[in-house]
Amino acid sequence: MTLHSHPATLPIDPVKLERLAEVAIRVGLRLERGQDLVITAPIAALPLVREITRHAYLAGAGLVTTFYSDEETTLARYRHAPDESFDRASGWLYEGMAKAYAGGAARLAISGDNPMMLAAEDPARVARANKANSIAYKPALEKISNFDINWNIVSFPNPAWARQVFPDDPEPVAVEKLANAIFAASRVDVADPVAAWEAHNAGLARRSAWLNGERFAALHFTGPGTDLTVGLADGHEWHGGASTAKNGITCNPNIPTEEVFTTPHALRVEGHVSSTKPLSHQGTLIDEISVRFEGGRIVEAKASKGEQVLNKVLDTDEGARRLGEVALVPHSSPISKSGILFFNTLFDENASCHIALGQCYSKCFLDGASLTPEQIAAQGGNASLIHIDWMIGSDKVDIDGIAADGSRTPVMRKGEWA
Ligand code: ZN
Ligand code: ZN
Repeated sequence: MTLHSHPATLPIDPVKLERLAEVAIRVGLRLERGQDLVITAPIAALPLVREITRHAYLAGAGLVTTFYSDEETTLARYRHAPDESFDRASGWLYEGMAKAYAGGAARLAISGDNPMMLAAEDPARVARANKANSIAYKPALEKISNFDINWNIVSFPNPAWARQVFPDDPEPVAVEKLANAIFAASRVDVADPVAAWEAHNAGLARRSAWLNGERFAALHFTGPGTDLTVGLADGHEWHGGASTAKNGITCNPNIPTEEVFTTPHALRVEGHVSSTKPLSHQGTLIDEISVRFEGGRIVEAKASKGEQVLNKVLDTDEGARRLGEVALVPHSSPISKSGILFFNTLFDENASCHIALGQCYSKCFLDGASLTPEQIAAQGGNASLIHIDWMIGSDKVDIDGIAADGSRTPVMRKGEWA
């Protein structure tokens, strides 16, 4: 650990950091008495890991186990490991995690890695390492993407991340600014964050209920560089805010969250769409994406920056060229209003309407918990090793809901709920 990331010297409000830990356990996970917890975190997030671990045990956690990652050690692999290393992953670790989740453990991830960590590395190697990791991670990730267990992700303002977001400020100032932006977006800068989250969840539940009542067959997005019809999966269900995992626990997987989202039909997406914010994908910035869909499949993909990486991502597997999520977020969301580009999907996706390439969420189907993967595919749910969100909303984008009989209902006008 370098001196500047020593906990005692971090310019981070300790009261708000503790509130974030409390929100992660009491709102994000709703950890149950006796439940075990598996945490993954960058080593720089140690101060938050300590607070979360303390609050986990205060909430009655059985056993808390944390796995740390570190930028320097990740880069050491790219600099010095033999070439065949990039087709491998620590499968034994992910098998162990899958076992823990199957045994009832909850899962908490702390995000905050340097978004440009791998920017200077060979994109082919990055793609190979990601693919090997995705394959090895699958048994554990399925427990999360199928919502078998309560899980949560929160963020810590890593100095390397803060420098990226606020490049003109000295590091301590950048860290303080990013910390305050994370606290505001995570709604822990108020006196009673748990009550604030209850009110926020109620608002998202109202939006989801309206969309579920309308039962649109498709959404039509129009805006600069965008004329896109996203067919929705048969029996799709909208979700937003807190929802109930298959283990019966109602939790808030993403903190922050501003979206209501559902599953598009993998075969029924037509037209073209342009991104409205850059996508930071595992160390590479992909900017000004524009893609064209035919029969649900991306047949043409361009980007002003990172096009090579984008096309590698699309070649991951057959499902990587099709959509697994469509999400609605008003342009006036607090994260959008902050005007900050976080270079982190957890935040940036909550600033804007977005779509995701790849794997769908089975919970976004009516009675999704009882559907087999084959049934989900038959209803139009996409399958892939990847799930990558990118932003297509702005104050210039309109959205109509199209009913099965072809009638149209305004859903959003100029980025706001109609
Ligand atoms: Zn989303
Ligand atoms: Zn997503």
